[in-house]
Amino acid sequence: MSNDHKAQALVDRCPYMFEQPQMLNLYAGWLDPLETLCACIHARLHGSAMSFQFLQIKEKFGTCRIYFHLGLPRSEPEAEARLRELAILREAVESDIETAQTACGSRCMVCGRDSTTRVHGAALATLFERHGLSERLRDPWSLAKLPITNGAQP
Ligand SMILES: [Zn+2]
Repeated sequence: MSNDHKAQALVDRCPYMFEQPQMLNLYAGWLDPLETLCACIHARLHGSAMSFQFLQIKEKFGTCRIYFHLGLPRSEPEAEARLRELAILREAVESDIETAQTACGSRCMVCGRDSTTRVHGAALATLFERHGLSERLRDPWSLAKLPITNGAQP
């Protein structure tokens, strides 16, 4: 399966997480940790009826930043037990996200090889050394970004 297909398959498995696809930068090198993250969050949410979605996934200074919304379903009253359940869930999801951000931050955003963050043009990027020197990779952000659409969207 190509990376494009893998990214779209990830969205299709958990479309509720990807309701704002235009805000979510899925870079090819991040696919494995993001797949793990989604599977993990999906399993944690199971049976809880909590609402979860990614608000933003982006690269900044060579690191990965993931922002999300987690809450009770909109129509549900804020019962104390449920809020407690939500707080525990939030802590677990934050830890999953931390793990994914750390993993993404040490991988080449293009190919996923173990890499360090370095100066790339006017910015910082986490790129495999040979990629960092390649002319073709002058804009690794565009090159590595996988197109996704959300079929659940109008
Ligand atoms: Zn690479």
